[in-house]
Amino acid sequence: MTSPAAGADSVPHLPDYAPIPRSALGPALNEQGYHVGRVERNLYYVTDGVYQSAFLTTADGVVLFDAPPSIGGNLRRAVDEIAAANGVSNKVTHLVYSHHHADHGSAASLFDGDVVRIGHEETRRLLLRDEDPARPLPEITFADRYTLEVGGERVELAWHGPNHTPDNIYIHFPDHDTLMFIDVVNAGWVPIYNLNLSEDVIGYMGAPAIALSYPWTHLISGHLGRLATRDDVAIHQQYIADIEASAKEALAAVNPVPFYIAGGENAWAGVKAHLDAVTERAAAPIIAKYTGVLAAADIEVFTTTTTFQIMQSWRLDRGHSGPVHP
Ligand SMILES: [Zn+2]
Repeated sequence: MTSPAAGADSVPHLPDYAPIPRSALGPALNEQGYHVGRVERNLYYVTDGVYQSAFLTTADGVVLFDAPPSIGGNLRRAVDEIAAANGVSNKVTHLVYSHHHADHGSAASLFDGDVVRIGHEETRRLLLRDEDPARPLPEITFADRYTLEVGGERVELAWHGPNHTPDNIYIHFPDHDTLMFIDVVNAGWVPIYNLNLSEDVIGYMGAPAIALSYPWTHLISGHLGRLATRDDVAIHQQYIADIEASAKEALAAVNPVPFYIAGGENAWAGVKAHLDAVTERAAAPIIAKYTGVLAAADIEVFTTTTTFQIMQSWRLDRGHSGPVHP
């Protein structure tokens, strides 16, 4: 994101995109630039309109889930505001990392001292690798499941395989009718580039069904202003399924040979022309179908890069890379 402090004379001119449906937007932000909302009972989420974090107030202190740097010091303000209003402790005693990415975790260093940090064992390994002092290592790690019990509250953490990242976990609040699962589904919006910058295409495509296998009404998805619903997940699944079907059709329909002939000895020119033609053919109907349905569907590069990744996964993971030479 660009700095909001940039002068007005440096604001670039953007294309005239389709208006954002009101239903894709979250609540208005306060003067400090955040909104803190009750999810259920003593579970709250905090947003700056782009990123989301969550916290649970308990009899023994506050459990924080993710610490996006864009919300930063407003996490402390949000916790203080809610704790004061409810007459409970504002001391953050635990911090859970959803995954290792800095854009969801690097305000963790604002909550050091006695805080117990919890994350997947792969999160710890990746944070060791990345050597970012803003994301202190989790002291408690787990491989498949971990039940966090604090002040009479229970949170179930689970890892079901790689998706957006190798370490991205499902955070279930069974007593709050809520799931927190970050960077896969955006409520009412298309994923940004490359399936929301995801590393495992097959894992990313299968993750929403795993999310739906949990009982919940509210999904904290990590981005934008509002909570997600089960219907948001279903629309996202349909968008991805439509891309997959369209990519398969285009891959089968576009003959690569003329592109390779045209490329001549520049084999990569032929590859580019062929794959671009497949991507274009596959993405165009998706962009048309979802413009006005999912916010930012008309930012075409998001859907074309996601289509490209899914088409490549169909070739490389699923094995449809063409016939074996006789
Ligand atoms: Zn991420």
